[in-house]
Amino acid sequence: MNAPSKIPASSKLIPGATGDWEVVIGLEIHAQVTSEAKLFSGASTGFGAPPNSHVSLVDAAMPGMLPVLNHECVRQAIRTGLGVKARINLQSTFDRKNYFYPDLPQGYQISQYKSPIVGEGEVLVDMGDGESVTVGIERIHLEQDAGKSIHDQDPKSSFVDLNRSGVALMEIVSKPDMRSSEEAKAYVSKLRTILRYIGSCDGDMDKGNLRADVNVSVRKPGQPFGTRCEIKNVNSIRFIGQAIETEARRQIEILEDGGAIDQETRLFDPVRGETRAMRSKEEAHDYRYFPDPDLLPLVVEQAEVDELAAGLPELPDEKKARFVRDYGVTPYDAMVLTLERESADFFEAVARRGDAKLAANWVINELFGRLNKDGTPISESPVSAEQLGGLVELVSTGVISGKIAKDLFEILWTEGGDPKELVESRGLKQVTDAGAIEKVVDEVIAANPDKVEQAKAKPTLIGWFVGQVMKASGGKANPQAVNEILKSKLGI
Ligand code: ADP
Ligand code: MG
Repeated sequence: MNAPSKIPASSKLIPGATGDWEVVIGLEIHAQVTSEAKLFSGASTGFGAPPNSHVSLVDAAMPGMLPVLNHECVRQAIRTGLGVKARINLQSTFDRKNYFYPDLPQGYQISQYKSPIVGEGEVLVDMGDGESVTVGIERIHLEQDAGKSIHDQDPKSSFVDLNRSGVALMEIVSKPDMRSSEEAKAYVSKLRTILRYIGSCDGDMDKGNLRADVNVSVRKPGQPFGTRCEIKNVNSIRFIGQAIETEARRQIEILEDGGAIDQETRLFDPVRGETRAMRSKEEAHDYRYFPDPDLLPLVVEQAEVDELAAGLPELPDEKKARFVRDYGVTPYDAMVLTLERESADFFEAVARRGDAKLAANWVINELFGRLNKDGTPISESPVSAEQLGGLVELVSTGVISGKIAKDLFEILWTEGGDPKELVESRGLKQVTDAGAIEKVVDEVIAANPDKVEQAKAKPTLIGWFVGQVMKASGGKANPQAVNEILKSKLGI
């Protein structure tokens, strides 16, 4: 749960020796399409199988094999396009992008070049504090993934694993609309949220199912765009941020020394915290793109697009707006609650049981806090929505105090059980009975005559008394009642 941190807009500019610089960022995100089979073959896309066990004759590029388009991947790309409010192109084409690499047996990658399936769209990115930026989407196209070369298993040989070869990827290309590493990170996490809501990519960056090519340039504010460098294959949100910071500083240094930026492809080394040149930028003509003669143009009916649009789930922006409207939670809380579909569902199940704002507080602060600390996903939460709902109900109806509720949460987390029964069996009920509270108040007052005198002169000392009474009651006294009784007894 990576909620964007709150940063002031002014921190976007990077100070240099010659004044402030602005960084300009555009991202090309490769998202593995969630599908049973590959883009042009029936081989499995399952992760973690023994090397070369998910390879069909098509994926191994045996002579004479013909690709057959997996229409489910097309549907996933369309749903993704709809999720970023993009134009869907009813006709698109597959091209061959020619290059040699040992893990690319075809000698070309099938990709979409001139006519991608999805055109321009946009993603609304929350920056916390109510600020948001809109990042334009240039296009989304479908393409094949390559295999994997393995160099670290033998001192003399390299190996090739083709399990990934031919797996469908969506390349989601943004416009150069981001102006800070924070914006880029927030954009990736928002896009990831959208993909996961839709179910078109699981967004698992650890498995390489979502990775980014990060384009970075710098300029003086108001000047035209500078020359960019592309940092390849960055595979965590944190590294994306670090790569941008590092690369921007490198470019600023060169420019301030009177140098020029060479457009090139670079790699980010997180251990050394630097980017390194990989190759100079290749041009489209280097790849000799041409339409794949084995594949017809891809034609989609508007009726199918409409059907897919109607089947989309409620997306994060809509859900967030509904949470603010219907539950009265703050936009920031609504954003945090809707980062994952499962968390949002969990919250709604809790909120149905009582005070929605209280429910939001408990879900975000106690539950998410604890889950994050333990690295447990919400799907495996030891405390169920049913249990947390029960707890919130007990707090909002005044049966237990907020303080006791924390103890109850701890019991639910470690031992489980029914909140109501636990409150009964462990005697956790809040004491609201004035007589019982008065007794404790009298005891505390009698034991501390000097403090009573002080409190008369300095009424804020009442807080100390409240603490003592709460302690003496084992946290069970109703704090409001304690306050009132103390005030009248102390005469303040
Ligand atoms: P290519 O196909 O050569 O990679 P594109 O025009 O498709 O080039 O751009 C690739 C990415 O680079 C896009 O995400 C785009 O937003 C970004 N980009 C383009 N110009 C700049 C720039 N001056 N600074 C930073 N990013 C840029
Ligand atoms: Mg590119």
